[in-house]
Amino acid sequence: MLPGLFDFFSTSPMEKATQQQTKEHNTNLVLSTIFERASISRAEISRITSLTRTTVSDIVADLIMEGLVKEIGAGPSLGGKSPILLSLVQDSRYLIGVDLGYDEFNGAIVDLRGHICEKITLPIDSGCTGEKAIAEIYHIVDQLVQSKLRPLIGIGLGAPGVVNTREGLVVRAVNLDWKNVPLARMLRERYQLPVYILNDSHSAALGEFSHQSGLRSSQNLVAINVRRGIGSGIIINGQLFQGDGGGAGEIGHVVVISPDGQPCLCGNSGCLETVASRRAVLARYAALSGKTVTLEQLEQAFQAGDELARQAIVESGQYIGMAVQSLIGTLNIERIVMVGDLNRFGAPWLEAIKETAARSTFYRLAQDTQIEIGTAGKNGIIEGAALFLLKDYSLLFRHAA
Ligand SMILES: [Zn+2]
Repeated sequence: MLPGLFDFFSTSPMEKATQQQTKEHNTNLVLSTIFERASISRAEISRITSLTRTTVSDIVADLIMEGLVKEIGAGPSLGGKSPILLSLVQDSRYLIGVDLGYDEFNGAIVDLRGHICEKITLPIDSGCTGEKAIAEIYHIVDQLVQSKLRPLIGIGLGAPGVVNTREGLVVRAVNLDWKNVPLARMLRERYQLPVYILNDSHSAALGEFSHQSGLRSSQNLVAINVRRGIGSGIIINGQLFQGDGGGAGEIGHVVVISPDGQPCLCGNSGCLETVASRRAVLARYAALSGKTVTLEQLEQAFQAGDELARQAIVESGQYIGMAVQSLIGTLNIERIVMVGDLNRFGAPWLEAIKETAARSTFYRLAQDTQIEIGTAGKNGIIEGAALFLLKDYSLLFRHAA
């Protein structure tokens, strides 16, 4: 026993722990307020967070010391003295994002705003499965960690299939032939960095959200990702909704045509993927025209006015519209963003989605829903996977050098 120990401190260990938590909570609050805006004054932060000006000033001083925030000059005066504006130092920390696409793996170093600084692309053939696919991920990340951009605070990876983010597990990825691969642990042990694994469509939704937030008031968004398969990512109140088992938004395996439709990789038949994915569109065009083409060739034919190409694209849009209609009815999220390989077909494809969704949705809900082509482009999954790391602001401090 150490008599009198507790008397020695002005606060008990328990009070200290609570103070520490409060400080952390307030720091996160201030940091997220700065993150979400291009620039902001201390007074505005205080107003938005309801923290006192003194608390905000103390926290901002710490953030400036950490190099995460800087003063960028005076803003417009609202009568009195012009306030000093603060901004995130977006190149003060770096993240690694990886996208395991169907025909290529991409990895990049991104800054705190998700901008791509260095990128590596590796073409992947269909035999790249199992251990081989893991070796290719190592091949990309080995190079990225050599970068001079420092400090690197973690790795975020978007993988196809069902992913359990909490356990860092790829539960099932059919095209990679993976079952229960503890990918987060493997990468963490190899690189000694924090690692998060996400479903690729969930990453895509985060990527789109980071591009669009700030421009509009809504904190909700659904991204529908059409690549080899079809998935979606749902953001509610600014947070990714992954579902209890990580499978939220798996719309690719919703049955949209009679169950005796074409068999799907999942074991069912008539799934959305079998009639509306990139692969399905190419197969449909081949069936209509007798020609086997690549997606690029289909795009050329489509642009040149090939009626069969147009038909294959419009049919895909109509099936996706059916799935969108149930999303609208279930979630009433007003911003639906299309991402992935078929965005290149633009308005005709999008119109088919919109018309079908509107035709069969409760009129009022459909009227208020915006369905649009995404703005994040090809790097959206990398950006989203990397930015997911920033859910945990403590990573920004632990590695501060
Ligand atoms: Zn299926």
